[in-house]
Amino acid sequence: MATIFTKIINGEIPSYKIAEDEHFYAFLDINPLAEGHTLVVPKREVDYIFDLNDEELAGMMAFAKKVAAHIRAAVPCKRIGMAVIGLDVPHAHIHLVPISEGGDLDFSRPKLKLTPDEFKAIQAKIQF
Ligand code: 5GP
Repeated sequence: MATIFTKIINGEIPSYKIAEDEHFYAFLDINPLAEGHTLVVPKREVDYIFDLNDEELAGMMAFAKKVAAHIRAAVPCKRIGMAVIGLDVPHAHIHLVPISEGGDLDFSRPKLKLTPDEFKAIQAKIQF
C-alpha cells in the first residue's frame, strides 16, 4: 500500500508544496516545530533513508540544500537544522527546521498549531 507521502506526492492528499523536481518533493510538515519546518522526500518509495542508493542520497541532499536556502531567506533564524527520524512514516524523509539554538531541533517539544491561512502564507514565502 502506498505511504501517506506517496499519496501526497501524487496529489491524492493535499500538501503545502514547497518545491519538486523529477526525483524529490518538499512540503510543509503539518505538525511543525517552527514556521517553515519542511519535509524533503524521494519520490521513489523507500522506508529507511540509508537504503537509498548513493546517487539518490546525494541527490536528496543537494535538493534539500536548495530548499534550505529558500527557507532561510524567508524565515528569521540563524540556520536551517536537519534531522532524520523516520519512526512514524515509513517513507524516507529529511526534516528541515529553522533554528536559532540547539534546543530548537528537539522533537519532544510541543508542535505549533497553524491555521490553513498561516500555512499558506509560509508556503507563499518559501515555495519555488
Ligand atoms: P518521523 O517519521 O520523522 O518521526 O515523523 C513524520 C513527520 O511527518 C512528522 O513530523 C509529521 O508531522 C509529518 N506528517 C505525518 N503525516 C503528515 C501529513 O499527512 N502531511 C504532512 N504535511 N506532514 C505529515
